[in-house]
Amino acid sequence: MIQLFYSPYELKPLESPNALSAATKPRSGALLKVEWSEGLRGYADLHPWPELGDSPLEDQLLEVRKGRISSQIEQSIWLARRDAELRKVQKNIFDEGDTVRNNFLLADYRSLKPGYLDEVKSEGFSTVKMKVGRNLKEELEALTLIAAAKMRIRLDFNAVGSWQIFERFMSQVPPSVRPLIEYVEDPFPYEEKAWAEARKLIPIALDNQYHRVPWDTLSVKSFDVLVLKPAKMDVEKTMQRALALKTKVTVTNYMDHPVGSVHALGIAMELKRKWGDLMLDCGCLTHRLFQMNSFSAEMNIQGPYLKRFKGSGVGFDKLLETQPWQPLTLS
Ligand code: MG
Repeated sequence: MIQLFYSPYELKPLESPNALSAATKPRSGALLKVEWSEGLRGYADLHPWPELGDSPLEDQLLEVRKGRISSQIEQSIWLARRDAELRKVQKNIFDEGDTVRNNFLLADYRSLKPGYLDEVKSEGFSTVKMKVGRNLKEELEALTLIAAAKMRIRLDFNAVGSWQIFERFMSQVPPSVRPLIEYVEDPFPYEEKAWAEARKLIPIALDNQYHRVPWDTLSVKSFDVLVLKPAKMDVEKTMQRALALKTKVTVTNYMDHPVGSVHALGIAMELKRKWGDLMLDCGCLTHRLFQMNSFSAEMNIQGPYLKRFKGSGVGFDKLLETQPWQPLTLS
C-alpha cells in the first residue's frame, strides 16, 4: 500500500523555454510525497508538458483519484522510492555515483552580448545547448558566436521543423562550425529512413520523439545519442536500448522543479559510475530558466556542476517537510 500526497507549485519562466510555448505563462506542476507502509517516505516532482503531448496536471491528478496512475506519475513514484531509500539510511544522492558535468542551456540567443560566452566558459562550461527552429538566420549567427568562443554545441529542433528546414539549416552552417556541433536533437518528426539520412549530415539525438520509435522493428541506425529523461522514461529499459543500438546517452531533467533536476542528476551520476564514457555531459541545470524560488536557492551550483548540498535523498528536507501537502485519495 502506498499513500500519495501532492503540493502544487508554479515556476515563472524568465524567457520562452522552447519554440512551442508562450514566453511568460507560469508553468504548473506538483511535488509528490509518497509513503509506503513499511515506513518509507520519499519525494519527487510531477511536471507535465502538455505542449509536448503530456496529459495536463489536473487530469493526471484526477485519474489517480479514479485509481489510474499515469506513466509519468508511475515514474515519479519510482524516483520517490529511490529518494525514500536514501532518506531511510540518511544518505545523500550525491554519495552515490560519479560527478557529471552539465551543458549550458542558452535560453535566448539574444543574450549573446560580447563577453557573455567568455564568462560562461570561465565558469567551466564547455558545451552550449540551444533550442532552434524559430529564426534560422539569427540562430546561425548565434552558432557562429558560440563556435568563435570554441565551445561545443548541442542543437534542439524539438521536432517542430521538417527535413527541408533542417537540411537548409545544415547547409548554411559554416564548415568551420560543423565539427563543434556535438549533435542535433529531434531535427524533425521521427521517421526512420529520413533520420538515417539526417545523421549522414550531423550526429542526431533522439529526445521527444522517443515514443514514435518502433523499437522492435528498427532496420537502420537512425540516431547516435539517446536523451534519457528519468522523469518520463524507464531508465533500465532505455539503457538497454542504448546498449543494443550502440548509442551514447545524455541524461536531462524535464525543465521541471529543482526536485526533478536533482533526481535526474542522481540518475546521471549513478549511470556515469556504471557506464563511464557511454554517458555524455548531462543537461540537468534548467532552474536558471525560471525565477529563483526557495528550492533553487538551496542548490549548490558551481559552474557546470551541481554539488552536494545538505539533507538526505534529493535534499531540501525542511522545505519538503513543510509543503502544504494534500492527500491524493485512491477511491
Ligand atoms: Mg529536446
